[in-house]
Amino acid sequence: MKYTNIIVTILLFSMLFAACGERPPKEPGVAVIIIDGLRPDVLQTAHTPMLDEIQADGAFTPRARAVMPTATRVNFVTFTTGFYADRHGVIGGTYRDPEFQEQRTDRPTYRDAQEDVPVPTIFEILADHGKRTAIFAMKGYELVGARGAAVQKGGAGIFPEEIWQYRYSEEIDGSEEEALRRKIQMNDILIDTLASVLEDRQLDFIMINLGASDYIGHVYGPESDAYLEAVEATDRQISRIVGMLKNHYPTREWYYIIGSDHGFSQTNKEQVALPVDNDMNRIPELAQRNIEHMLYERGGRAAELYLADPNRVADAFHTIRGLPWVKRIYTNHAIEERAGSLDDLRVAYPGRHGDFYIITDPSYALNFANFGQHGSNDDVDVYVPLYIYAPERVGPGTIIEDASNLDIAPTLGQLYLIDDERINRMEGNGLLK
Ligand SMILES: [Zn+2]
Repeated sequence: MKYTNIIVTILLFSMLFAACGERPPKEPGVAVIIIDGLRPDVLQTAHTPMLDEIQADGAFTPRARAVMPTATRVNFVTFTTGFYADRHGVIGGTYRDPEFQEQRTDRPTYRDAQEDVPVPTIFEILADHGKRTAIFAMKGYELVGARGAAVQKGGAGIFPEEIWQYRYSEEIDGSEEEALRRKIQMNDILIDTLASVLEDRQLDFIMINLGASDYIGHVYGPESDAYLEAVEATDRQISRIVGMLKNHYPTREWYYIIGSDHGFSQTNKEQVALPVDNDMNRIPELAQRNIEHMLYERGGRAAELYLADPNRVADAFHTIRGLPWVKRIYTNHAIEERAGSLDDLRVAYPGRHGDFYIITDPSYALNFANFGQHGSNDDVDVYVPLYIYAPERVGPGTIIEDASNLDIAPTLGQLYLIDDERINRMEGNGLLK
């Protein structure tokens, strides 16, 4: 009898698979698509049919939290490691070491910089579990967190010069339309790069940063029509990625995590605190008092101030405190009037942090005359949308609660059903129930 059961079962299964014309379902592929600098309120007005569909069929929150500083470079390393900046060390582009020497977090090459990241990356972990991984970075420095990715593409090298050099330009030959068009085209070029990799590689995991929305947010502001247009174009481009993966892997299920590295503040470009064509790294009021210092911007609405002489800390604090562009100051020094500590912000990586973290007032632009900047711990910079599409794993219409950019890597572990100590040690949590 038992044999008959088994034979019937085998027969049934072979009939089922013959009917489908497919082998049994394979492990899913996962694509993490980042919309650079996406502010959730724009989704209420923008026409985004692809994102709406993903939200309806999957899980969503408009209030996932980016980590400090709310900037691309920092949050991309958080995406791939599950740690705050004070643990992964990529606290910004430039910093001063304890000897007050200038250092970069991404030099001499991104590949070299990857070796300095002191925690495991999701690319390494996925590779150890047999996954073939790839990252497509628009700006290039997203690659710092991508140690272990089999395919690493991005930055200046993949864009034609006439596109790359104008990425922050408001107009090209007097035309705002042309400037906008070329920025949106950058997403397409990055997706073309993904398409060409798919021609000769099999991939199980893809991370891609669609950065047009960030460039456009900076130049025209997050409350502009151009920004709205950028988000709508990005929605169509995501639909292109989804279609491309479906065509390329007709029998395979793809899961999607769609999120953002930071929000955006509308800033006033008529008032620039420390214009880039002067000395953007020095505050004149400190220089007048002979306080040797160096200021590095962190996204435009935050900046880290390093002092050469620890005896001038209190003096420096009281000098900058009343400046009109200074909104709040965080420090680990015992100063009563501080807004909080660097540890509250989770930015104090040993040997890399400054004395003060300044959150700027949005009625000023810090260095660049921009309508949009980010980097602060204000809600507009911190809160970003997050979508998870994984049928059978996440029910349609699920509301994601209490999510942050720390949770992306652990959630990938859940989606691939990977049990790995390195994921358990991350600071984020998997978002699947
Ligand atoms: Zn930006």
